[in-house]
Parts: sequence; C-alpha cells; structure tokens
Amino acid sequence: MERVVVVGGGLAGVRAVEALRKKGYEGALTLVSAERHRPYDRPPLSKAVLAGDSDDTTVDADWDALRCELLLGERATALRPDGPGRGGVVATTAGDLPFDGLVIATGATPITLPGDGRQHVVRTIEDARELRGLLTEGARVAIVGAGWIGAEVATTAAKKGCAVTVVEAADTPLANALGPEAGALTAPWYAEAGVELRTGVKVAEVDGRGLVLAADGAAGRIDADAVVVGVGVRPDLGWLAGSGLLLERGVVTDASFRTCHEGAEPGTPGEPRPDIVAVGDCAAWWSDRYGRRLLVEHWDTALNAPEVAAATLLGEDAGYDAAPYFWSEQFGRMVQYAGNHAASERMIRRGDTGGRKWALAWLTGDRLDAILTVDRPRDLVQARRAIAAGASVDPDALADPDVPVRQA
Ligand code: FAD
Repeated sequence: MERVVVVGGGLAGVRAVEALRKKGYEGALTLVSAERHRPYDRPPLSKAVLAGDSDDTTVDADWDALRCELLLGERATALRPDGPGRGGVVATTAGDLPFDGLVIATGATPITLPGDGRQHVVRTIEDARELRGLLTEGARVAIVGAGWIGAEVATTAAKKGCAVTVVEAADTPLANALGPEAGALTAPWYAEAGVELRTGVKVAEVDGRGLVLAADGAAGRIDADAVVVGVGVRPDLGWLAGSGLLLERGVVTDASFRTCHEGAEPGTPGEPRPDIVAVGDCAAWWSDRYGRRLLVEHWDTALNAPEVAAATLLGEDAGYDAAPYFWSEQFGRMVQYAGNHAASERMIRRGDTGGRKWALAWLTGDRLDAILTVDRPRDLVQARRAIAAGASVDPDALADPDVPVRQA
C-alpha cells in the first residue's frame, strides 16, 4: 500500500493517521477535511467552550512526525472506486486524490428543523463560539430536544442567567438514548436549575421570533432570542452517493470496518472492500457482541476504533468488539453510560434515584448488559469491566450502593 487518503479531520480521522504510522505504514498519507482547523475535540464544545472556560480543543498531534499532508478547508465530493482491492479516486475540491487505501471518517451533521428562522446547532468550534456570545443574562433561549446536547446547552445557558425553555417531543428527556424510565429520572434536574422543560411538545418550525409549536393548544409558540436545535445528527455521506458502497444510515461495515459494495439485491452486501474502511460517527459497524450493526456517535468509539480500521487497511486480521461508552456533564452532574440495554430483561436501581448519586443497571438473567451512573465514576469503571467480559453479577449486591460492583 503506497497511497492512503483519510477523508474527515475529526477525532476518527486523526486517530486513523496516527494508527497507520504507529503500525509501520511508510507510504504517502493525505488527510482531507472540510473544516479549516486541525482536528479538534468536540465534547468540550457544549461544555467548557460554551461556558467560556476554554477556546481551543485542538487534538495534540505531531503532524510533521506523522508525515501527513493536510488538505484543510477542502471537501471530498465523490468516490470512484476501481475494482475490488484496487483502490480508486476521491474527487475533492482540491482535485482528484488517487488512493490504494481509503479511510472514510466524515462524521455527522446536525439535523435541523423546517422554517427560515435562525437555528443554532453545536457541532463545530464556530457554532460554539457564536452561541456563547448569545448566552447573556436575561436572554430568552429556546432549546429543541432534551437529549445530551440539549441538556448540556441548557446547563450552561441557565448558569449564565438566561431564561431557558427546553422543548422535547417525547414524554421524558433522553427517551431515545436511555428509554423513558431512565430518562424520566433526569427531568427534575431541569427545574432545579431554573430551566423550564416542556415534554410531549413538537415543534413545527422555527421562524423569525422563535418556535412555532405543532400542537400546543395553550400557546402555539415560544418566542426566543436564540433557538438551539439538538435533535440528533445524520452521518455525512452525501459525497458517497453513486460510489456503489453499501450505505444505510451510516456506511455499512463488518466488525473490521471493511466497507462493501451494494449486492445484487438493493440493500444487501456484495463484494467486500478491504481497501476502504469507514470509522467514527459515519460508520454502521457490525458488532459480534450485540449481533447487529451499531452506529455509535460517541467520542470513545472515534478514539479507539480507528486503530482497528488502520490494522484492517494494512491487511491485519483485526476486529472491534467494544461495548459503547459515553459521558455527559449536565446540571452539575457527571453522567456516564457503558454497554447497551436495548434487549435487556430488567433494570435495577442502585441508590436513591431522587438523590445526588445513583446508578441504574440493566441485566439479562444475571449478566450485566449496561450501566448508567450519576456521579458514581467508580461504579462505572467496575461495571464497564464486567460488561466487557460479558460477566454475571449478583443482582442483590448490585442493588446495594455500598457494595462495589463485582463479577459473580
Ligand atoms: P467528526 O468529529 O464529525 O469529524 C468529521 C469531520 O469530517 C468533520 O471535520 C467534517 O467537517 C469532515 N467532513 C465531513 N464531510 C466531509 C467531506 N465530504 N470531505 C471532507 N471532510 C468532511 N461524545 C461523548 O462520548 N461524550 C460527550 O460528552 C460528547 N459531547 C459532544 C458534544 C458535542 C457538542 C458534539 C458535537 C459531540 C459530542 N460527542 C460526545 C460526540 C463525539 O464528539 C463524536 O462522536 C466524535 O466527534 C466523532 O468523531 P468523528 O471523527 O467520527 O466525526
């Protein structure tokens, strides 16, 4: 392999570059990224950057030592793969880039709502800086979506003295991410912080004055000085249209992050492409652990999965089977989650969920599937080990917050 191109300069992109060199790849390496900045970390954008405590989250990488050509502020516009295993060409705004190995790491873009009113999202450092300037004492801030981003923005806006309203279509915060029972436990945090939370309310559009609600008989709108939309993201795959690669909500890969062509039947996998890997927020990868494809939009996956993707590209037999992990800092609490409880049989409460520190654990039989911790980092670390090992736990001990989380 002599020419590797990495498309996307987020965390997954830079980690792929680092992993390729660490594994001894000596050929040419080019990273092309739509943003003008060197790769930077996004989690602080809705936390320290929005709060004004930080302004630079650039990933610490030695680009000279990595011998990587950086094409910043340039965008991939199309992919033209040659025959399987033979590379191809990435068309970009800086010209065509032939490759014999390609890493697709184009991440995701926030979903926005209908309407011609101004909508703020938090995805880039510019987004965060611009919104920061609007979070002034007394400003009316309407946030659509009580998910991770919505809760973090609400936290900072409330702290800055804004009048914050969060509108959520589901009946609880975090309903999509955690399910309604767990999500409901976070609802009181909003009122505690002086934030108005309106659940079960859909937004029809954003206009020049704020939010127009779809079905809220009492008052059909919420006027705001700033509207922030945090209703999820969509993988950035537009440039792959017509490439022949199999795409679902993300780029479809196997457990080694190998992409594949679309099969004879639409939507089915065809010829694998070991020379084209996809990783990070844009990849829908096969998880042997869960027996299905996962699209994990979390920092930990963007950090660790590229090492496996790089190994695959270099012909090593590598697989990724980590349990997902993420964290969120909201309303003065550190919230952490590991595992996946989509198919779990039951949930156990660990501690008083009305108090400051507690956890929820999900089990199938006695096997620990997932844990959510609120200001209980030790539980998270211990449980994460058990989850990774697919281990059983003693459910009675797990329900006692004074007993460490242990494998049975
Ligand atoms: P991205 O970071 O999206 O990078 C992709 C890059 O590719 C971008 O620079 C994009 O401009 C570029 N690109 C896109 N299309 C093209 C193209 N056609 N050509 C060239 N370049 C292109 N996760 C957690 O676990 N905990 C948290 O607390 C947390 N907080 C977050 C807070 C915010 C505000 C955001 C936005 C995310 C947060 N995340 C968090 C998620 C985490 O940051 C992402 O999972 C991670 O950034 C994904 O990295 P990535 O490299 O896959 O994609």
